[in-house]
Amino acid sequence: MSLRTVLSVASEAFPLVKTGGLGDVVGALPLALTHEGIATTTLLPGYASVLGALEAATVVREYDDLQGGPARLLAGRARGLDLLVLDAPHLYARPGNPYVAPDGTDWPDNAQRFAALGAAAADVARGAVAGFAPDIVQAHDWQAALAIALLHYADGRRPGTVMTVHNLAFQGKFPRDLLEVIGLPPRAFAADGVEYYGDIGYLKAGLALADRVTTVSPTYAAEIRSPEHGMGLDGLLRHRTDVLTGILNGIDTDVWNPATDPFLAASYDARRLGRRAANRRALQARLDLALDPDALLVGVVSRLTWQKGLDLLPAVLPALIAQGGQLALLGSGDFTLEAALQETAATYPDRIAVSIGYDESLAHQIQGGVDALLVPSRFEPCGLTQLCALRYGAVPVVARAGGLADTVIDANEMALSANAGTGVVFAPDSRDALAFALERVATLRGNARSWRQMQRRGMKTDVSWARPAEQYAALFRALAADRAG
Ligand code: ADP
Repeated sequence: MSLRTVLSVASEAFPLVKTGGLGDVVGALPLALTHEGIATTTLLPGYASVLGALEAATVVREYDDLQGGPARLLAGRARGLDLLVLDAPHLYARPGNPYVAPDGTDWPDNAQRFAALGAAAADVARGAVAGFAPDIVQAHDWQAALAIALLHYADGRRPGTVMTVHNLAFQGKFPRDLLEVIGLPPRAFAADGVEYYGDIGYLKAGLALADRVTTVSPTYAAEIRSPEHGMGLDGLLRHRTDVLTGILNGIDTDVWNPATDPFLAASYDARRLGRRAANRRALQARLDLALDPDALLVGVVSRLTWQKGLDLLPAVLPALIAQGGQLALLGSGDFTLEAALQETAATYPDRIAVSIGYDESLAHQIQGGVDALLVPSRFEPCGLTQLCALRYGAVPVVARAGGLADTVIDANEMALSANAGTGVVFAPDSRDALAFALERVATLRGNARSWRQMQRRGMKTDVSWARPAEQYAALFRALAADRAG
């Protein structure tokens, strides 16, 4: 059987709505899969930004009452994606972040908001939209996971199901008394169903009941089967080892292309690395840093949460500055971490720039202008910023965790003698290891020729979606064949 259609279900898709890497992946994988002969339709919640971008939409299904209000499914296209959009104003027409209210707390009805998404997905998977019969349903993270549980407990034929985990830290855990509200039968509340430490676990249900489970790097796929990284789900993941695979993410190499990037002061490629100097100057000027052409300029583009390990940074910055270094950090997240970083920046205004917020243009300018990009995560399912850094000739300096370990080759003596190193890799969650890594970067950069070679090797690394898409396509085909057989 040849496979043609995937229903991808998610709460984000770049460039329509994005809070992190999940959005990038959901936005980019469909195009990559078309090269494998697979068409993807993506089902998203009807946030204002999604509805606003939808072209030539038609109503394909209506609900009198979906989790407390009327709703409809719209089919259309937006920014190159074939979409189904769940237009349910009582659930999604809200200001700010898709998950969190402006006061920083989760929306109180998130269980219902994403139960509705799951229910619509399960309907579509079972033929609710005339002429559309997906072979595979791919549910991304907990927000989409209920689709898999609803399909599992429904009668009749269903497509193959794939649960894709972008971050095990976000699990969607809700009170057990919601079982009926979210449309599940009493028998679903079981250890091999949606029950999760006495509550309902959306991600847990997806992991337990999907035909296949994928996550976003081979190392993370191994790590999450251990108690240390399994976040309460390692036992289940060990049980599901046979169907668990790690497939690395790629990045959109058109959006992230230093030769054509409209945000950069100067475009460049591996043969014209000298042109990066103009980007560095423009970045320093934009951020009010000293226009120092020689400083080791380190960049960070990140959510500011415990996961990312950036709380370790303030303590090591005095040493970086003593070596003449500079820091350009862009991020947002935990208020206390934002404040700590801003306080450090205030102490060294022309050496440290901390920009709080979400800013696509500055993210590109940091990648195009810094010497090194730092990712000191405690855990990292895949990580995308180090892939962007490789492509932009910003040497990645990363903790040895998850996908960071799978994508950056440490430039140790042996790697350098084999012309193989692409960055610096250090032990996670250690201030000393982070400080030593920054010292190593300074030493490596001291050898201009070898540093340039390392930048070029990074830029030649294949960070595109081509190989990951091949792996997803193979997995989808094998699953569809299994189910047909
Ligand atoms: P995560 O999904 O855990 O946030 P990833 O590295 O997988 O981390 O993906 C982060 C994505 O979000 C990258 O595309 C990165 O460039 C982008 N990003 C993160 N923080 C910001 C920010 N403050 N401004 C702009 N882009 C950001």
